[in-house]
Amino acid sequence: MSSEVTSMKDVKKQAPLKAAPAPKVKNGIKLLIIEDEKALVDALVYNLDREGYEVTVAHDGQDGLRKAQAIPDIILLDIMLPGINGIEILRELRGNEKTKSIPVIVVSAKSEETDQVVGFSMGADDYVTKPFSVKILLQRINALQRRAEVPTKEGQGPVELIEHKQVKVDMVKHRAFILDEELDLTPTEFRLLECLLRSPGRAFSRQHLMDSAIGEGAIVLERTIDVHIKTLRKKLGSMDMIETVRGLGYRFKE
Ligand code: CA
Repeated sequence: MSSEVTSMKDVKKQAPLKAAPAPKVKNGIKLLIIEDEKALVDALVYNLDREGYEVTVAHDGQDGLRKAQAIPDIILLDIMLPGINGIEILRELRGNEKTKSIPVIVVSAKSEETDQVVGFSMGADDYVTKPFSVKILLQRINALQRRAEVPTKEGQGPVELIEHKQVKVDMVKHRAFILDEELDLTPTEFRLLECLLRSPGRAFSRQHLMDSAIGEGAIVLERTIDVHIKTLRKKLGSMDMIETVRGLGYRFKE
């Protein structure tokens, strides 16, 4: 117990090189929010600012397209907007040399599969359905950021393909394959596979997998994840790629 840090003075003394995370410390990530719902924007700005993001807001499509010219690191894009809608904005962004590589998370109240398909086919990098928790959004932003940071083999552009063993997940087309056979996955199974496949060998708790694949707001039992894993394993075939970590959760075979 004697080595325990007892005051902020001690923290400074003991760890001068690595400052403890504190509010207002900029992480340097520029985020553009294109969203007309004021209450949601206020909540997002408050929380993202606290996490250190440099947030810019556009309340309509026209303004959003204009502000995108400053090349933010990530864009949060609403679909239902006054003037130019989100799908149209995405089309514009992807058709423009300067803005075509900016990672875009589509944020929408529309939860129909077709809207997600349209969003992904138009080049959205991720899709979050309203209402969502800030925690989930932050996880998705972080995941997207990590993805964007990893260069491709050619050393440019974000990695759009996660590949391990015979399994392949195409994040742009939102499709998954095993030995080049397409897997017919539910959105939850897709997210589960994505989460596990990103870190082969890493043991994930059931809670972590639920947050990533189902969403924090969802009221689910821990065994719900077991059910999804069971169906996912079945779809992956007889090869036991997803291993059970006793007392914790699961991991993808290294
Ligand atoms: Ca809206």
